[in-house]
Amino acid sequence: MDFDGLFNEQLDVLKDEGNYRIFAELERRCGAFPRARSHDDDAPDEVTVWCSNDYLGMGQNTEVRAAMKRVIDECGAGAGGTRNISGTNHHHKVLEAELADLHGKESALLFTSGYVSNWAALSTLGARLPDAVILSDELNHASMIEGMRHARCQKVIWKHNDPEDLDRKLTALPSNATKIVAFESVYSMDGDICPMQEIVEVAEKHGAMTYLDEVHAVGLYGPRGGGISEREGLADRITLIEGTLGKAYGVVGGYITGSEALCDFVRSFASGFIFTTALPPAVAAGATTSIRHLKASSAERKRQREQVAKLRAALDREGIPHLPNPSHIIPVMIKDPVKCRQIADILMQDYGIYVQPINYPTVPKGTERLRFTPGPLHTDGDIDRLVTALKTLWKQCAIAHQVA
Ligand SMILES: *Cc1c(COP(=O)(O)O)cnc(C)c1O
Repeated sequence: MDFDGLFNEQLDVLKDEGNYRIFAELERRCGAFPRARSHDDDAPDEVTVWCSNDYLGMGQNTEVRAAMKRVIDECGAGAGGTRNISGTNHHHKVLEAELADLHGKESALLFTSGYVSNWAALSTLGARLPDAVILSDELNHASMIEGMRHARCQKVIWKHNDPEDLDRKLTALPSNATKIVAFESVYSMDGDICPMQEIVEVAEKHGAMTYLDEVHAVGLYGPRGGGISEREGLADRITLIEGTLGKAYGVVGGYITGSEALCDFVRSFASGFIFTTALPPAVAAGATTSIRHLKASSAERKRQREQVAKLRAALDREGIPHLPNPSHIIPVMIKDPVKCRQIADILMQDYGIYVQPINYPTVPKGTERLRFTPGPLHTDGDIDRLVTALKTLWKQCAIAHQVA
């Protein structure tokens, strides 16, 4: 049996469509973010990263690194087990208390990633609650979709960011159903933000539980980095808030927060929590330090916002179309997978600008884009160089100038 032939057949389809993924091999330069050394032959040795989810550069923060080094020396490299069998370290418990406080909840539960936290929590809730129905925003992240699939309960998809459609779909459900409304605050590909108050009110009206993914908002929004739910003063009305330690907090890991009983329920029944080695204690300590730093300091958030506004204004001046949105994410629409890849290649090879092309299935076909995430460490010079390069490419590649 020619197994490789079977593999290659499907890979060739991706390649023909222009959707084959090519990773940039980089070495991030600590102390010099967003600069990175490139190991690709056809790119300059040093490149500027424009698509990182380490939104605030916390991955190179001095206190975060010091905490991680200290705890490696104190506790060793790994956790040594699952949370249940010898793997629960004091540093995990400290981090969970910090997370519960961040969102004003009774309790928090750590996972090895945000993906795992969504998958494990949603699948456990959907599978175990009596007559559960999960009502999912149509643009929810793959990790939530996998969780719902695994839950094998009834699923209802509601129109993206549309509380009226949610209301209609909740109304249609039988009164005995346990309803779970799953949605995100900041959607990572379009950078739009949900109408949280309206969604919460609709859910409350129907007695539904709310499950909120704040992955692209924690650390970035709210006076202490508690996300959009903190900024809008709605955190106490949301049943479960999920987040990541791998994006704005610059480390790795995922979590849920909620009531004591909710977290204990997921802790006790979720296979994705129980049967896997706990995060290294040093990672937990680094994340705790990062959260504490961003609770007290708004300097990084403020500077990020300024750089985001500057890039938007510069793109507008040059007539380069980008999706308008109220977040830190700037999607420049190309709407063609091959062109999107080509532009990204030229930016990397000729200008040392790294932005990963975003193609299907991450976004729908025909909405291919470059997704820029300016941070506090991008200089005004970086922004000028990026916009000059895009301007030149727009002429060369004859891409439409009208607003997307
Ligand atoms: C990245 C992402 C996740 C997963 O978080 P990780 O910590 O990277 O696994 C979950 N939800 C959304 C919306 C994301 O973009």
